[in-house]
Amino acid sequence: MTTLTCLGTSDAFGSAGRHCAGYLLDTPQGCILLDAGPSVLGALKAQQRRPIEVDAVLLSHLHGDHFGGVAFLILEFCYEAPRDRPLLVVGPPGTERRVFELYHALYDDMRGKALPFELRFLEMVDGGVQDVVDARVESFRVPHQETAVSLGFRVRANGTAVTYSGDTAWTPDLLRHSRGTDLFVCECTTFDSHVPRHVRYLDIAANRHSFDSGRLLLTHLGREMRARSGEIPDELANDGLKITLK
Ligand SMILES: [Zn+2]
Repeated sequence: MTTLTCLGTSDAFGSAGRHCAGYLLDTPQGCILLDAGPSVLGALKAQQRRPIEVDAVLLSHLHGDHFGGVAFLILEFCYEAPRDRPLLVVGPPGTERRVFELYHALYDDMRGKALPFELRFLEMVDGGVQDVVDARVESFRVPHQETAVSLGFRVRANGTAVTYSGDTAWTPDLLRHSRGTDLFVCECTTFDSHVPRHVRYLDIAANRHSFDSGRLLLTHLGREMRARSGEIPDELANDGLKITLK
């Protein structure tokens, strides 16, 4: 079976009491975490999941609400649940450096100490293709940061395909990257307010007829999206939502 569980569906501000970005993709052979917001350990455990189950983490970009939790995953595997197999962290250029900078900023006394498990890194760019666990991961660049690379992912596993936008401004490329997939998890931070480099619901509504994925799920929801949910016919993500893909 292949499933996607929403762990965190809020924007950077914990809107409506939800966790920041995190999605767990369970495939027949493994467990891939898509983004890891700062409270990812609590978000996993709230869903009765053990962090040790995670085989790989895919980071869309290196903003705190998407990768802050990697430091706590490392800490978990050092102390709370010692890990006897590698953890793979996949992300845009600079991921390895930023993860260690973050970890050492939060836990200065861990500086210079070897980790008791193997932490592997894989950095991807626009148009990248990599095999991660039993999934084929394609990365595409999205317009979210001015110079640093922000990525979206198309992940195929067990005969299903999921596109995850990460954080992005609206671009017609999202239609192309999600075409033919079973599920498109698309960021939609505001309803109609313009926040630079994020999607508004008005963008989704204006392009609704052009989406071609089996299911569209809007996420990274800010307070405005929660407040106006009654006006939105599309599906909004919630922490704990579990979708069976196959
Ligand atoms: Zn974000």
